[in-house]
Amino acid sequence: MLNDHTETGKILSGLLPEEISAACNLTQRFHAMQIFQWIARGTELFADMTNIPLKERERLTQDFAVHNSRCGTVLKDPDGTVKLGIELYDGSRIETVLLFDKNERKTACVSCQVGCPMGCTFCQTGQLGCLRNLAPNEIVEQFLHLEKICGRLDNIVFMGMGEPLLNLGAISKTIAILTHPKGRNLSHRRITLSTSGICKGIYELADSSFDIRLAVSLTTADEALRTELMPVTKANPLPELKKAIRYFNEKTGKRVTLELALLKNINTSLDAAKQVCAFTQGLDVHINLIPWNPVDSLPYTTPSDSEVRTFYSYLTAARLNVTVRQKRGRTIGGACGQLGKKSC
Ligand code: SAH
Ligand code: SF4
Repeated sequence: MLNDHTETGKILSGLLPEEISAACNLTQRFHAMQIFQWIARGTELFADMTNIPLKERERLTQDFAVHNSRCGTVLKDPDGTVKLGIELYDGSRIETVLLFDKNERKTACVSCQVGCPMGCTFCQTGQLGCLRNLAPNEIVEQFLHLEKICGRLDNIVFMGMGEPLLNLGAISKTIAILTHPKGRNLSHRRITLSTSGICKGIYELADSSFDIRLAVSLTTADEALRTELMPVTKANPLPELKKAIRYFNEKTGKRVTLELALLKNINTSLDAAKQVCAFTQGLDVHINLIPWNPVDSLPYTTPSDSEVRTFYSYLTAARLNVTVRQKRGRTIGGACGQLGKKSC
């Protein structure tokens, strides 16, 4: 059973210490910091917060909750990837994935929406439409559930279900909570946000105080093809997207990752590579190729290893900095673009 404290102010995992103090009307303000620290360490019950007076713990248990989501399913791929199915208070379901990077560091790939409104034609999540934005506590809790099951995590990427720049308020709050020096104290440099390319949000992020990394899902630099595959292109055409990426480069001094989901015979030709090279002129970018991860019912095919190698060599010949994403998590539907299948 999920608890029924559904009002955001009553779920403490989504609050900063000063907000916990105000929401709970605590007699001693330092108790708010102690509660915040218990939550960051993964404690879910007020009863276990032993440095808080018993009477206060009983009152908190009556009126508040630490979490209002619960981990339902845990799927493990033989390659180490783990996928959690998380149940929200209203019966919605989201997915969170543990990934390993090439240095075997652990990364939480978290969702920011139930579904996604962007409608990219090659993505499982895009087929769901957007049901709603997640609240800050629902994003923080994905990280805490994953740490409970998989141990301490090194990085967090906003690359799960949904378009993060459409829920930047909740993401900002999540970042403030997870990077708080008295709490989980995650470094800003260990946080990456991936967007389908919403220019306004890229400018906002560049102008924010967050020192996080940015990834943009370019997919193709052919405007007409990108409009077909990623409807976001209509309101955010490639020349505008390029300007926004350049602004991010200049304002933050950071390199941006361009992600290219590779679809066999669609965006892997020599011409397609030339268009990507032209797009990158004047930008400080790294390219990450993601061979398409199969999604039932979508009319695409994964390129062969040799097709991927050829495309890779076109780009590296033009002196671009390129990596190929390892195929991980596919057997549990936990790879990029596979999240949100109804039967999982
Ligand atoms: N919504 C954000 C982040 C989640 S998608 C975004 O689009 O950037 C994470 C990455 O997976 C994106 O780069 C996206 O283009 C890619 N992707 C989506 N579906 C895919 C699939 N079936 N196979 C491979 N990559 C996919
Ligand atoms: Fe949404 Fe990203 Fe999937 Fe596009 S690729 S539908 S933006 S989750």
